[in-house]
Amino acid sequence: AARLCSGAGSKAQAAGGAGAMLRHLARKLRASGPVTVAEYMREALTNPGQGYYTRRGGVGESGDFITSPEISQVFGELIGIWYISEWIAMGKPSTFQLVELGPGRGTLTEDILRVFKQLSSVLSKCDVSVHLVEVSPKLSEIQAAMLTGGKVQASPEDESAYMKGISKTGIPIFWYRDIQDVPPGYSFYLAHEFFDALPIHKFQRTEKGWREVLVDIDPEVPDQLRFVLSPSRTPATQNFIQPEETRDHVEVCPEAGVIVQRLASRIEKDGGAALVADYGHDGTKTDTFRGFRNHKLHDVLSAPGTADLTADVDFSYLRKMAQGKTATLGPIKQREFLKNMGIDLRLQVLLQNSGDPATREQLLHSYDMLMNPEKMGDCFNFFALLPHHRVVRPDKKDKPESKSPLPPVAGFHELLLK
Ligand code: SAH
Repeated sequence: AARLCSGAGSKAQAAGGAGAMLRHLARKLRASGPVTVAEYMREALTNPGQGYYTRRGGVGESGDFITSPEISQVFGELIGIWYISEWIAMGKPSTFQLVELGPGRGTLTEDILRVFKQLSSVLSKCDVSVHLVEVSPKLSEIQAAMLTGGKVQASPEDESAYMKGISKTGIPIFWYRDIQDVPPGYSFYLAHEFFDALPIHKFQRTEKGWREVLVDIDPEVPDQLRFVLSPSRTPATQNFIQPEETRDHVEVCPEAGVIVQRLASRIEKDGGAALVADYGHDGTKTDTFRGFRNHKLHDVLSAPGTADLTADVDFSYLRKMAQGKTATLGPIKQREFLKNMGIDLRLQVLLQNSGDPATREQLLHSYDMLMNPEKMGDCFNFFALLPHHRVVRPDKKDKPESKSPLPPVAGFHELLLK
């Protein structure tokens, strides 16, 4: 199953014995006391030696969770069309970078590049390059195999990238560990199920005021972790809780905020757009931190490094962190976004072209997974950052011809491709 919407934390039993990551964390906690949930999550997911993404990667049917691009090729195709539609609406610039954050197995990029190839007559005069931001060496290898057939050059001397290659469709691809390493320039950004993997801080309202939730070693049980509350306020409680907050439990992901700030600054300066798709809420949910292993909920504190850890994305926080540098659209539910992008028509075409009952069954099943409100249709959301002039025409009183309406942004409105 997909990592569906959040419920209460799972109560799964500790899986397996104390692994290397647990021993490493236990030593650290004994030596220097409890750590924030963010620090715990960062260690568990991206520690260079033992982190979950570093070693396992987890995405896909044989992994721990499955994502929309892995469920259906239609998902990535419609996203590819979104970029082309925005490229046209923005006046067909002569070059753009497609920058994907956390590309997983590379399936989404592969589906987007197939659409770019199919529409190569439209894109013919445009110089396109792909830039992947990926911390996991294991996943970058899988992406390279998927997208280039494995023909890549490691640590190219002339680039800020750690790897480069050419896609099977002839487009240059570069890999980076951090968005800041991606060269400036007109860019379309994509973050699908990326922000939910970034470390969160958790806070609890108490009679004595806000306290931060920390991870500590359980003194009663060897090598078992437990949550504790900070005895007093922490720097994070001071910085991240808004005075007007009404919830009793709050999760904040400062790293997501920093990345959105960077995206918004880059779009403001160099042009382009960002599309963010993830499960999340608009500043209303409380306890959404959860783990997944073998497609099942997994206790977040047991066997760290062996399970995916995730929390719902707070879109209201992302909107705030764009700081007005760009316009924002959404969040809009996945089923509405895909419907606006023409998923029903695409499904009909694929069904008509396939005589094989098993394939037809598969097409209908994957459509249901993506669109059903009980499955991924309602809890996954799309959110976009766009230059202000793409959404509101600058007021030019002396130019009456510029009053023609701006083309609607596909997905958030119905797709109109001329
Ligand atoms: N977008 C893919 C994969 C989602 S899983 C899909 O939808 O199928 C999350 C991805 O983000 C993985 O590729 C993981 O290795 C990557 N990732 C996690 N934390 C990261 C970080 N701090 N910087 C860059 N990539 C990160």
